[in-house]
Amino acid sequence: MADPAGIREMMSRHALATTVVAAVVVLLAAGWIAFQMPEPPPTRPPNPTQDFYTTDDGKTWFRGPPGQPAPFDHDGKPAVKAYVYRCGGTEFVVYLEEFTPDAMRVIEDMEQRVADLATRPTAPGEPGPAAQAGMIRSRTMYQVSMFGREVKRPGDATWTSVGDTQAVAAIQQPKCPHNDRSHTPEPVIP
Ligand SMILES: [Zn+2]
Repeated sequence: MADPAGIREMMSRHALATTVVAAVVVLLAAGWIAFQMPEPPPTRPPNPTQDFYTTDDGKTWFRGPPGQPAPFDHDGKPAVKAYVYRCGGTEFVVYLEEFTPDAMRVIEDMEQRVADLATRPTAPGEPGPAAQAGMIRSRTMYQVSMFGREVKRPGDATWTSVGDTQAVAAIQQPKCPHNDRSHTPEPVIP
């Protein structure tokens, strides 16, 4: 067996090599983690003038008013919001979005409150009906979009609540339908 002094000498001789190997391992690990991280979905304009909706699980889609609470009736069928992407000349729905039945009831109650505001006189010093309606609307829509919104991909049997942020990030990640690494899916602006 080598004596302790010999081991120390050997270790100091190999110290540089050991440091280099450790640094390479750290860099590879960082690269692997970066590779594993899903890319954030491409951004869309914050205030679209229209949105896409679908009544057939994303096979076809149509334009409608922006942010219309869905599901809503369209030609006798429930319509939900559709997020459309384009890749290599192909347009396709990446995921669908709707509110839960509870959230839709909250939105309906809010619409009723907003309608009632317009019919009652404003007290002195109180914001006007339009300003109050705007505040109620933005607060309610913020709450339901945080707690009562759900998404799925076309063909999925079940919806996933936006509270499940990891699962939702995977659902929202656009994937090119072609076997071509040079393709990057781009959002289609309605
Ligand atoms: Zn493609």
